[in-house]
Amino acid sequence: MRPSEVMRLFRDCGAWMEGHFQLSSGLHSHEYLQCATILQHPPLAARLCQSLAERFVSDDVTCVTAPALGGIVVGYETARHLGARSVFAERVDGRLQFRRAFQVVSKDRVLVVEDVVTTGGSVEELISLVRDRGATVVGVGALVDRSGGWAAFEVKYHALLSLHLKTFSSSECPLCKEGVPLTKPGSRGL
Ligand SMILES: [Zn+2]
Repeated sequence: MRPSEVMRLFRDCGAWMEGHFQLSSGLHSHEYLQCATILQHPPLAARLCQSLAERFVSDDVTCVTAPALGGIVVGYETARHLGARSVFAERVDGRLQFRRAFQVVSKDRVLVVEDVVTTGGSVEELISLVRDRGATVVGVGALVDRSGGWAAFEVKYHALLSLHLKTFSSSECPLCKEGVPLTKPGSRGL
């Protein structure tokens, strides 16, 4: 799936919007993207994740893992297309852990996925967690990379879409200066 097709899907279902938004960071932007909006549609989630899975079909993936909550659906759908297990990691006292009797073992070949890579910090943490179990990390996949090209990992990395969102502090925001009404989306987005 080409990035332009991915963008069209996001736009068509309202997951990508133009306007005047306050992001969870407090910064302002004229664009807003919310992956959960597209992932609520199972056929669309399946299409995106199949496209992501296709990049890793030759890697003998046995297990796909993702950080909760944002990555769970992407991990599960991608695992389905790869015929692999799907496990997620969740934060306990601020650190990612495998709970719920999820087992990642030394013979596993693991694909780490995210809905959105911003700094890559959670992915790096998850790679370490997987390697602590003695397993091999074969790659990293994401629906969207919004790191502006900064995120890089020592394994194969593919994102379906790379976004370069311009953000502004409220004092420097051109839309604030024009008096455009500000929208504060309720949930975490970009
Ligand atoms: Zn503004």
